[in-house]
Amino acid sequence: MGRVVGSIAPHGGQLVNRVLRGELREAALERARAFPRVQLTSMAASDLEMIAVGAFSPLTGFMTREQYDSVIDDMHLPGGLPWTIPVTLPVAAETAADLEEGQEIALMAGEHLMGMMTVAEKFPADKQREAREVYRTEEEAHPGVARLYRQGDWLLGGEVFLLNGPQNVEFPELRHEPAQVRRMFASRGWRRIVAFQTRNPIHRAHEYIQKTALEIVDGLFLHPLVGETKADDIPADVRIESYQTILRDYYPADRVLLGVFPAAMRYAGPREAIFHAIARKNYGCTHFIVGRDHAGVGNYYGTYDAHYIFDEFDSASLGITPLFFDYTFYCKKCGGVVSAKTCPHSKEDWIYLSGTQVREMLERGEMLPQEFTRPEVSRVLMNGIRQRKQVPQSEEQGE
Ligand SMILES: [Zn+2]
Repeated sequence: MGRVVGSIAPHGGQLVNRVLRGELREAALERARAFPRVQLTSMAASDLEMIAVGAFSPLTGFMTREQYDSVIDDMHLPGGLPWTIPVTLPVAAETAADLEEGQEIALMAGEHLMGMMTVAEKFPADKQREAREVYRTEEEAHPGVARLYRQGDWLLGGEVFLLNGPQNVEFPELRHEPAQVRRMFASRGWRRIVAFQTRNPIHRAHEYIQKTALEIVDGLFLHPLVGETKADDIPADVRIESYQTILRDYYPADRVLLGVFPAAMRYAGPREAIFHAIARKNYGCTHFIVGRDHAGVGNYYGTYDAHYIFDEFDSASLGITPLFFDYTFYCKKCGGVVSAKTCPHSKEDWIYLSGTQVREMLERGEMLPQEFTRPEVSRVLMNGIRQRKQVPQSEEQGE
């Protein structure tokens, strides 16, 4: 932990740094060779990195039972700080049985040593309760719940250190850590920064929301999630190319920073909206855009549940200011992009496509209507999707 640059304090006051470097890292690598090896799930591997770089401050490791219970039942950490998503290290019961509390373990992604951890505790996961409380459903059709049910039945809690970052990362040049992002904001003289979380291309509606928010702050941090997502989301490399294209042609370069958010998507809707906001506070953002059905999937959450949940928290202890946006679209009568909050006209005048319609049009090689998506973006998406379809399914997804 060191002096933190930026106008907003990290969650809990200090930016966590659990990345070992230099001689400390060398010594740890040497010792870790003798440790029992524990395999990380792909989500735990990304969580390890997020913890170590401070994106999940104040967490310094995977959750202990007390933290896990408190977060599930009360949406706060034991000390009273808001926190809504369990960050856990799941293992099979047999793996847990072989480990003792107090033991040091090597955290592996396949054959790649990523980190080390002192096992403070091992305890059984309470999957049904976690599903019900965090995801608001026990149905396996929910992708977050399905992943939860698939993973090991035991959890290891304890502090971690990162020794090696993940292998073969995409977009290394956009992978700015929270401390770097804070310095970049400071060097641009930005004091008030709005973060936009996304796992989708930027259609005109998103551009409208981002630019409306930008009117009241100094800078926009466009922070697409590039960790694990579900198979039918648009692939991250295609999305990144579309972001770079639209930023170049339609956004002021000195007011926008693009970085990637290496977290895995949970699809936990309202709870994940809070989690996403807290992580962006750690990156130094003062404002966070929450759209309709933020981090949602299917019909599991109400359209505005991710807005309402902010009312359940003390705004001072949350720290970052949410900016809520409504259903946004192009209206022919208004002659521009507007929202349900600002347009008095009816559906017949609106141009809006569902995610499924967008995907189907792109797969057929059709340009999206330019009131909906800028042609430059349509072209990138269309080419990306069509090339992608020629890749065998097995090479596309990690899990
Ligand atoms: Zn209108």
